[in-house]
Amino acid sequence: MSTTVLAAPKRPKIKTELPGPNGKKIVEADANFVTPSYARPSFKLVAERGSGVWVEDVDGNLFLDCNAGVGVCSTGHCHPEIVKAIQEQAAELIHMCGTDYYYRHMPQLAEKMDAIVPVKSPTRTHFANSGTEAVETALKLAMHATGREKFIAFFNSFHGRTLGSLSLTSSRAAQRKGFKRQALDVVHVPYPSEFRNPFNPADCGDGGPGQGALNWIEERLFKTTTPPEEVAAIIVEAVQGEGGYVPAPKGFLNGLRRICDEHGIMLIVDEVQSGMGRTGKMFACEHYDVHPDIICIAKGIASGLPLGLCVARADLMDWKPGAHASTFGGNPVAIAAALKTIELLEGGLLENAANVGAYLKEGFVKLQQKHDCIADVRGFGLMLGVQFSTAELRDEVETACFERGLILLGAGTNTIRWSPPLILTKENVDVALEIFDEAITASI
Ligand code: PLP
Repeated sequence: MSTTVLAAPKRPKIKTELPGPNGKKIVEADANFVTPSYARPSFKLVAERGSGVWVEDVDGNLFLDCNAGVGVCSTGHCHPEIVKAIQEQAAELIHMCGTDYYYRHMPQLAEKMDAIVPVKSPTRTHFANSGTEAVETALKLAMHATGREKFIAFFNSFHGRTLGSLSLTSSRAAQRKGFKRQALDVVHVPYPSEFRNPFNPADCGDGGPGQGALNWIEERLFKTTTPPEEVAAIIVEAVQGEGGYVPAPKGFLNGLRRICDEHGIMLIVDEVQSGMGRTGKMFACEHYDVHPDIICIAKGIASGLPLGLCVARADLMDWKPGAHASTFGGNPVAIAAALKTIELLEGGLLENAANVGAYLKEGFVKLQQKHDCIADVRGFGLMLGVQFSTAELRDEVETACFERGLILLGAGTNTIRWSPPLILTKENVDVALEIFDEAITASI
């Protein structure tokens, strides 16, 4: 990125067709040598470098990034303090294998997690490298701690793609197709979306969709296929991510907590996408005042370096040496980035996510009044979903935004997810909304 661009980019700048000539070569090479299993969007971004909320592609086009590498670059691209922390750590100790040796970083981050996670009792942390590994850890731990093996998860959820977490994941058939039966014994319940109640209103009483889901568990599952005393855990996203940025309705997570308490079931909250400040609070479940037994964290925690954590009640983590470990998990460089990320979140980015997120949401509400095709606007902080009337229109808007230099990504069938870096400013929002508006007008 040239220094003039770095100085004060205000707007995206697209100067070639997309992808441009350099980008095309990379896309071609990718098609020849890289697994075709990645479900990439119809537009093709070939990134070269990033700075803050800006990404430059290999042909010199400049984009405003409101996806942040799918919610990972929480402090923005290459935040100078993150880069410094990584460089300093890389010059000192890159790897030592914390599962066999000791280094200060692991207890330092685990102690910090203990202070910030909404788990009520003292905690312990297991270190891994990704969201799916954090979830695998949670599943194994719940089985180990309860001696049970059934799980309850929700339709449209996404918890990862390794065989254990894939048994929970239910956001798209393509993720399951070809992989035969589920590795784990999981039953799925409709996720209680407030926008489209999946339950018969008569089955919800006056508690709305959240009550409908709780009733489904207690009245159907527990009384038929899934006796509660055989359930190890209920696993839930406080805000469904890949499923379409759908926040849990009020009372639902607390209802799950009650059910878990009544039956000795573990409540696992997957905060891989919604955690680490994305919703304007450190964890999305804090919006509901719910306290999980086990929490899964990854994506935004290390500003782009791979790190996945499973933080659990200390009394549950009484498994013995050898029960679970990972060679790379808790790599000192990733932890250095995580500690700095948390410092930046606590030093103002949480507040920024709440304030700028509210400003962005207000803008969406105004656009909804202008464009009938916007069916719903929802979410907290900088984890906002804008649902369109059809999947085709959503895809067209996504592409039209990209062509104008705004990076956005779909989630669910009809929704565009907004998960920008948490450093986004109101000035950035004004530009993003102007492009979004223009892209919607061009697509309808
Ligand atoms: N859990 C949630 C809620 C996610 O959104 C994701 C990824 O999008 C995962 C788990 C899996 O994370 P990873 O892709 O790092 O394995």
